[in-house]
Amino acid sequence: MNLKILNKFELDQRIKSLVSKERELLHEILLTIKEIDQRKLYLEYGFANLFLYLVEGVGYSAGSAQRRIDAARLLGEVPSLGSKIQSGEVKLHQVSLIQKAARDVYKTTHKKVTAEEKQELLEQITAKNFQESQKEVASFFDLPVVEATTQVVQADESVRLSLTISKELADKIQQAQALLSHAISSNDIVDYLEYVTDRVIKQKTSVRVKLDNSRNNFVEQEKIVDEQNAKIRSTERKSTATVEVKPFTAKIKKILVNQDQCCQYRDPVTGRRCRNQWFLQTDHKQSRWADGESVVENAQLLCAQHNRLKYRQEAGIKYLSR
Ligand SMILES: [Zn+2]
Repeated sequence: MNLKILNKFELDQRIKSLVSKERELLHEILLTIKEIDQRKLYLEYGFANLFLYLVEGVGYSAGSAQRRIDAARLLGEVPSLGSKIQSGEVKLHQVSLIQKAARDVYKTTHKKVTAEEKQELLEQITAKNFQESQKEVASFFDLPVVEATTQVVQADESVRLSLTISKELADKIQQAQALLSHAISSNDIVDYLEYVTDRVIKQKTSVRVKLDNSRNNFVEQEKIVDEQNAKIRSTERKSTATVEVKPFTAKIKKILVNQDQCCQYRDPVTGRRCRNQWFLQTDHKQSRWADGESVVENAQLLCAQHNRLKYRQEAGIKYLSR
């Protein structure tokens, strides 16, 4: 269509009509996200969670994906949100304010904000601007208006981080820094973070071997490592001869973490691998109930969500939409 031929009234009508259609489409998108979420279909597509699916699989930016997830989930609890989205009385970033505040309330008090409370708050922020909504939400839950954490990747790929922490956490960090002062020479928080992070990675990935003090040269140490690894495998193989199959050892998990580093679930249709590095668990490729052995060759890393999905698929249990 040639927009140049439209007069100012026609252009005004056109933009309003398009925006109205855009809101209707947004409502349809939210209902679709809600259905995918409730049936946990993103797991079958090879994604560990809905957020990663919307960013990497669908193409939303991180912020857009999070706002749509917040709205789709609130739509499940408070159906009247649908008409407010379609009319434009409530915008997605206002919905995110409610959902984020509910998460903060749960984090600090372990109390779940009810659907009724969310509905009441939704009515209070209807047709208000962002700043007014921010104040309403903060006073409703009696929460401080806190600056959100921001992460900005800079030109040299370093990351500029801005975050707000509680006084209790700040005190704990200071105490930990004092306890580690023999190992970290400065009181710079970045040095502390690097030291603690290195220790965690080392602890979770290095296969520890007990060494005999009388045999402490390097060649001997390597030999002991080989013997220990062979022992792990043969012990695990032997265990299959008994009726009860033992779970994987922590050493096998460390071997896998070193080797694969992420969830190995693949979508059987697209072949997409999950690659999630959070909540990794050691899974029997061939299940224990099907005589799968607890040996490295039968082990794979799966994230907790895909481990659960694999179990449900083997047991024939589906995630049902509500
Ligand atoms: Zn996974």
